[in-house]
Amino acid sequence: MYQHLPNICYECGILLNQESLTKEHVPPKCFFPKNDNFSLITVPSCIEHNGGKSNDDEHLLQIISLQILANEKGQNIATSKAVKGILRNKKRTKSLASNATLVYVDEEKTGQLKPTFAFKFDEFKLNNSVSSICKGLYYHQFHKVFNGDIEIYNEFQISLDDDSINKNQEYEKNRILIKKKFSDVERKGKNQEIFYYQIMKLPKGLGFSLAIRLCFYEGIGILAFLQEKKNSNSMQSRLH
Ligand SMILES: [Zn+2]
Repeated sequence: MYQHLPNICYECGILLNQESLTKEHVPPKCFFPKNDNFSLITVPSCIEHNGGKSNDDEHLLQIISLQILANEKGQNIATSKAVKGILRNKKRTKSLASNATLVYVDEEKTGQLKPTFAFKFDEFKLNNSVSSICKGLYYHQFHKVFNGDIEIYNEFQISLDDDSINKNQEYEKNRILIKKKFSDVERKGKNQEIFYYQIMKLPKGLGFSLAIRLCFYEGIGILAFLQEKKNSNSMQSRLH
């Protein structure tokens, strides 16, 4: 038995036995500093879906912990783990360096601009890793496998292209709206300096039934919209 949850993989729904049952951390353990990895959320997973996307998770960790909005714990992770991971991977170092752009940001909203770097990230990898986290949280929350569509919105994105002023104003408007909408929603998670999440049921007719907001290191938000498919129970969970 797994913590009063059904013994099925959170991602594919396959029925698990003692040999095939593994624990998947949600979010992945690499996000937590050694002194802060208590009371982590885990869900049952088959071997294939546990750590099978560790490359994508490492990419997500690099992107998130390197954000200037990350708190000190996030920045420590960036220097101790993420940067090492990037340097280990020559291809990744090259691609980051080749598309890094010097930008100036008003980090403390004082009107004083500070130089920093912006870089492109692999959206496919990021979405893959974030989707898995959302499926894990969904399972943790509702005790069933999520089957449906997930759309991801990164609150930290900025635009550097020709239309960047308009786009960045739009992103800023979105950040303010998200902050307002989620200000009263319960923050779940035992170690909120590192990670917490919020769940909001959405009104009918929007195309998505649920929003899950992830917050890493107190400042990096990612919003996911989930739409459950009807009659989505897998064969295994129907017979469970
Ligand atoms: Zn699986």
